[in-house]
Amino acid sequence: MAGTIWIPGAERITPSAPGGNITSNAPPRVVWHTTEADPGTSAVWSSMIRVLKNKSAEPQVLYDPLTDRLGQFMPLDVGGRALRNDGSTLTNRVGQVCIQIEVIGRAAKPFTSYWKPGKNYRAFMAAVRSWGIKDVWPAGPPPRFIADPPHNEPESPRSRTIWLNRGGHYGHSHIPGNNHGDPGGISTTALFAAASTTPKELFTVGQYENLMQQIKNEGAATRQEVRRQAIWSLRYGVQTEDERARADKAFDDAIEAGKTLAEAIAAVAAVMRPIDADLEYRARRNG
Ligand SMILES: [Zn+2]
Repeated sequence: MAGTIWIPGAERITPSAPGGNITSNAPPRVVWHTTEADPGTSAVWSSMIRVLKNKSAEPQVLYDPLTDRLGQFMPLDVGGRALRNDGSTLTNRVGQVCIQIEVIGRAAKPFTSYWKPGKNYRAFMAAVRSWGIKDVWPAGPPPRFIADPPHNEPESPRSRTIWLNRGGHYGHSHIPGNNHGDPGGISTTALFAAASTTPKELFTVGQYENLMQQIKNEGAATRQEVRRQAIWSLRYGVQTEDERARADKAFDDAIEAGKTLAEAIAAVAAVMRPIDADLEYRARRNG
């Protein structure tokens, strides 16, 4: 499966050297890091680029979780340089792709507790998913970072078997042959929720951005939020997970079929009407 190589909208940053060739057939994966600096300014952005280049430890992707600024040092299909080798294993080159992202933040203060992900974050996640990388953490969620040894809680197993054989998302704190504890206890739920629903095939980043723009123009920050508000605005009592899933699906199907937001809300209303009628019926019967 060939995926996105340059993320649409990412700033190109010149690396200290090109990335390494990948020959691994292991499943594709992502590794999350934090740079151990506070995000939010262009000064820290430039300083992180300098630090990573001076150490020759560039990932493919640099991200500021407060400004949604996204940069790319090298194509996604070559090896980055932010991991140490594990004996003779070239850790940075394990997986058909091994996409490393350095988030400007601190392991002790998980960035998902204060971040403001936007369209660049969603473009990053769309690129990740274009390689067939699932929303899973094979070694578990990243452990919480604590100042005192052993630093990670619970202690990361850094399993070689898991790392060499399973695709998905990892933290630097999960990787064998490495001793860093980043990115800390970030919320894996928040991470995937902010990426919105998995884009379907033929649903391009460009189309997705148009949708986000449309939704933004109509007054809310994300599709999920609009969907929630749209369903809420119908004032029908969504009672069960199944009903909620049907309403969500009606909304998503309409958006993905190119309908307008108003039409998508109408589609949700059509799904909700029988539920509403049933609620009224039951309410009357209960007196
Ligand atoms: Zn790291």
